[in-house]
Amino acid sequence: MGNPVLRKVCNSVKVSKIGTKKFQKFIDSMVETMRDENGAGIAAPQVDVKKRVFVMEVQENPRYPNKDAFSLVIAINPELKPIGKKKVDSWEGCLSIPNIRGCLKRHAKVELKAFDRKGKAYTMKLKGFAAVVAQHELDHLNGTLFIDRMQSMETLSFQEEYEAYWM
Ligand SMILES: [Zn+2]
Repeated sequence: MGNPVLRKVCNSVKVSKIGTKKFQKFIDSMVETMRDENGAGIAAPQVDVKKRVFVMEVQENPRYPNKDAFSLVIAINPELKPIGKKKVDSWEGCLSIPNIRGCLKRHAKVELKAFDRKGKAYTMKLKGFAAVVAQHELDHLNGTLFIDRMQSMETLSFQEEYEAYWM
């Protein structure tokens, strides 16, 4: 947090570039960083790249012990559309804001439209933790951090206090 790249609107990826070795390596490095840091997702600006790309995945994750697992999603030029009006309380953290958690509202279900790493367009419906993570990551591509979406700072917590009082 504080690096200006996190506050920029990222640029779309040229679909013809997705297949290049350089871009494929970039995707691999994002997945690797996410896994190394125990993130549920990571967006390109978090690794200093101003492009509309995020990856997300939850297997057994010590940062999110009580969350539903979901398989690896690679989203290039993603778009999100809420399904229905239901919103949920979401306690979030961010690899760019270490050791901090805060509670905010997210759409309960969303439709994700994006390109995969082969350059193929897809649409998928997401709910639960996967829906929340996709919204968090897409926000990164527009320069928005989860703290911007908190209606009140009262729940802004250090990880330790979050675990003691809120988890
Ligand atoms: Zn984040």
